[in-house]
Amino acid sequence: MYLFTRNTLVNWNIFCATAGMVKADIDTEKQQRLRTRLMDTLRSKGIQDTQVLNAIAKVPRHFFVGEEQQPYAYEDKPLPIGEGQTISQPYTVAYQTELLQVQPGQKVLEIGTGSGYQSAILASLGVHLYSLERQRKLFEKNESFAYLQSLPDVHFYYADGHHGLAEEAPFDRILLTAAARIIPGNLLEQLAPMGLLVAPVGGTEGQQMVRMHKSPDGSIQEELFDLFYFVPMLPGTQ
Ligand code: SAH
Repeated sequence: MYLFTRNTLVNWNIFCATAGMVKADIDTEKQQRLRTRLMDTLRSKGIQDTQVLNAIAKVPRHFFVGEEQQPYAYEDKPLPIGEGQTISQPYTVAYQTELLQVQPGQKVLEIGTGSGYQSAILASLGVHLYSLERQRKLFEKNESFAYLQSLPDVHFYYADGHHGLAEEAPFDRILLTAAARIIPGNLLEQLAPMGLLVAPVGGTEGQQMVRMHKSPDGSIQEELFDLFYFVPMLPGTQ
């Protein structure tokens, strides 16, 4: 318990570094309580899906942000994750996940791994997850992130999401976590019949959340939801 005092926390950091652990491997009761409170906040903001709320209560968001962001990990806010990118606001993660209506065993493609938090939320719902990231540094961070690597059936790729992932298509669900001006045709092609694609669509002034449903005959129906602010989906890799 003396870990909570300032000096011993520093010692614990040194111990963790020596032992090859990261401090973010630690999930305290306080952090678990903060997650339960975050889950209640999201419920009060309109998230209803119990599975999604439970996933928010289960996945340690503080594992996905840096040292300086630790005090804010359970606030309902986006936070910087380096490379000019952000971990989405928990409400946004819950909102998109609710719209995606995943079932265990489904094949899901995520565009924009970022911190990997949304990936972990989806993985906790029992899907086969394929997640693409265009920034090498973020991709490499996730490749060496023990918590993410310990999740069953999560596969990370360093790739431009505009192309999708043809070798694993079709996908039952596709989720874009970066804003697209238009939905890339490749992604719609790689969506399975009866599949759902959820994406923020629009420019820097804000994006409308869109859900696309592919009929068995291949035609697409579109539903429109609330306005959000995402980082843009950019071309190519870097
Ligand atoms: N799901 C993430 C959100 C990260 S922000 C999370 O939970 O943290 C969006 C991410 O999309 C950024 O990491 C950005 O680099 C990535 N991105 C933007 N354009 C992309 C593209 N064309 N292909 C793949 N990833 C992209």
